[in-house]
Amino acid sequence: MTDTSTRTAFPVGTIIGYPRIGRRRELKKAVESFWAGSIDADQLEATAASLRAETRERLAALGLGRDDAAIPETFSYYDQVLDAAVTVGAVPSRFAGLVGPNGAVDLAGYFTIARGEGDNPPLEMTKWFDSNYHYLVPEIGPETRFRLASDRIVRQFEEARDAGFVTRPVIVGPVTFLLLSKASDEAPDGFRPLSRLADLLPVYRELLARLAAAGAPWVQLDEPALVSESIEDERADVLEATRRAYAELGSAAERPALFVAAPYGSLDDALPVLAASRIEAIALDLVRGSIPTGLDAATAEALATRTLVGGVIDGHNIWRGDLERAFGALTELLSLSPDVAVSTSTSLLHVPHDVDDEPDLDPRLKSWLAFADQKVAQVATLARGLVDGHEAIQAELSAATAALADRAGAPGVRVPAVREREAALTRADFRRGHYEDRLAAQEAALGLPFLPTTTIGSFPQTSDIRRARAQLAAGALTEAEYLARMQAEIKRVVDLQEEIGIDVIVHGEPERNDMVQYFAENLDGFAVTKNGWVQSYGSRCTRPSILWGDVSRPKPITVDWSTYTQSLTSKPVKGMLTGPVTILAWSFVRDDQPLGETARQVALALRDEIADLEAAGIRVVQVDEPALRELLPLKRAAQADYLEWSVGSFRLATSGVADATQIHTHLCYSEFGVVIDAIRNLDADVTSIEAARSRMEVVHDIQRSGFEHGIGPGVYDIHSPRVPSVAEVTELLQTALGAIPGRQLWVNPDCGLKTRGYDETVASLRNIVEATRGVRASAAARL
Ligand code: GLN
Ligand code: ZN
Repeated sequence: MTDTSTRTAFPVGTIIGYPRIGRRRELKKAVESFWAGSIDADQLEATAASLRAETRERLAALGLGRDDAAIPETFSYYDQVLDAAVTVGAVPSRFAGLVGPNGAVDLAGYFTIARGEGDNPPLEMTKWFDSNYHYLVPEIGPETRFRLASDRIVRQFEEARDAGFVTRPVIVGPVTFLLLSKASDEAPDGFRPLSRLADLLPVYRELLARLAAAGAPWVQLDEPALVSESIEDERADVLEATRRAYAELGSAAERPALFVAAPYGSLDDALPVLAASRIEAIALDLVRGSIPTGLDAATAEALATRTLVGGVIDGHNIWRGDLERAFGALTELLSLSPDVAVSTSTSLLHVPHDVDDEPDLDPRLKSWLAFADQKVAQVATLARGLVDGHEAIQAELSAATAALADRAGAPGVRVPAVREREAALTRADFRRGHYEDRLAAQEAALGLPFLPTTTIGSFPQTSDIRRARAQLAAGALTEAEYLARMQAEIKRVVDLQEEIGIDVIVHGEPERNDMVQYFAENLDGFAVTKNGWVQSYGSRCTRPSILWGDVSRPKPITVDWSTYTQSLTSKPVKGMLTGPVTILAWSFVRDDQPLGETARQVALALRDEIADLEAAGIRVVQVDEPALRELLPLKRAAQADYLEWSVGSFRLATSGVADATQIHTHLCYSEFGVVIDAIRNLDADVTSIEAARSRMEVVHDIQRSGFEHGIGPGVYDIHSPRVPSVAEVTELLQTALGAIPGRQLWVNPDCGLKTRGYDETVASLRNIVEATRGVRASAAARL
């Protein structure tokens, strides 16, 4: 057993993690240069090392301790889950060629696992808890040979030490690592990665011993899976694995003190299990979760001897927040243990670097915001308060309170007209007519063939298009010149669809930088940032807009584009909007009212847009909701309320139209099962979903669920440059027809085409149309 009296105390102020992409996306640029072959591995390593050095200096300057393990080492070249996988040697057998004799993969190999190569697909990517960050899913089977295959994490600690820091190494904990993994291709049916825990733990113990030998006083193990109720494994198994893992890691003779962080929610029944183990510090997410109450005596007694790290600064949004309340929560936590520290609720990975790096943002709005650096400073302030008392930080607390009051009363935050309209809504505003009547009216209005073909909206975003947008922003193109270029592009895309023989035409979305930011720029209540990049996955970053005030639509947004498009063709043109849930999910949303209220404001703005599209002669409107599932709360108890307001906001946006107007929606993923009732409740006339990768497996779920509206399971996997052959598409369509009545079925790709090149897009669409014609002909022959 370790001797606690000689331990370095836990730092009184810390953060769970920090953005790693760099203030000017330096890491993104370096990594992409490495992929392009314009820099070598040593150059990439050097850039990464200097970014890490800058981050440490910056965090110290912002008030985190230099030598007390307050600064976490959360750098990653691509993803922290992939880092854990290569650290423990969990590389799928298809990449065995990348693995050296000691189990290590080099930097190039690491990226190959992340991105795939030739016929070897990369690790699957999926969303990290309820965030828009994507991690790579490790593949574990009976054949996985766990071993300490990388000492990168030790070297980074030493690198910091050589620069005069004592930092805190961070790794995904063993339970979360296995819970987030999936069974490898080799694994037998029903295999659960969690069953390999006993083989994995010795590797973590070895790593801990190495870190202890290097002089690390603390190590952070991230265990967010413990707070999630969306994990497939039985809860009892999760708790038993937690008990076992931390009994075993805690009993290691040579190890740093253990700090377990479980962000994104409350630990609930996992808290007593952790408390009963020998870990020295536990982080509690006090933004999403709350201070545990009703603890049994043993747990209460155990917690009283640990460091409790109160995650009171929201790592998930960009608001300055209520520091007084945060300090109050820390004070309350002191009733559980005399040893309390302050932290962010989650890693700051989810927020941009620095508000002060936004010259174009309104100064008043800026005073309400805190990006990563401001949040670190808030942590430092609260830490000072814990040490020196409330008085010592009174000025900072009062300033935050004043900013909150200023925000509450500022023009635009609460707009009476918007509020009155929302308050006057009735049930009827959320309802359309009977589906059978709508179907009949739409068949008459649109005259579409059996198995209508369409696309999801965007066409390839060529460099010409991007350049024109940049030139417009820089003033090098006039509005009129820009409009002419975009119209030329739209005409090209329409002519192409006509020539290929697509039935429902799209305009291709050339004028949109991003499906959410485009609307944010055109709605009141939003602001957009200049440098507010946040990592989405790997080197990909997004720049979420800030939804700060009541939302309304000053004027029509897409109507001119759609009517121009409709003027070019006699086929129906599909108007294209982003839905309220997705707009919320991919923005930083105000935290001063329930999300549902904000969603209804966005929905009303979209409802007006749809009414204007309809009045202008657009007969089909698609409202994309790819984020519907992403926002689903991790805790089951909160899911019903979420589904109520999310589905409600979609219906509010789309229910103002006549029966003859056809409403489509698009969802990116294929795991239909989880949210099938919600999708049915959206009451869209046609729903397109991803299905090509899973070879149409999803149609069986659809069949089982008794879904009766139009459905377009994707027949073209747009995530890859591969062109599906006519035979392949035909087979997919036949599979779909085997499960779903033909009159419900639509033919479309999995998702938008904006990331694809023109050659493969055209070839694929031709094959899709040819396959559809073949299937139509054989269906007609059978009649
Ligand atoms: N209409 C969008 C497009 O085609 C949909 C994108 C998405 O689902 N993410 O690009
Ligand atoms: Zn999609």
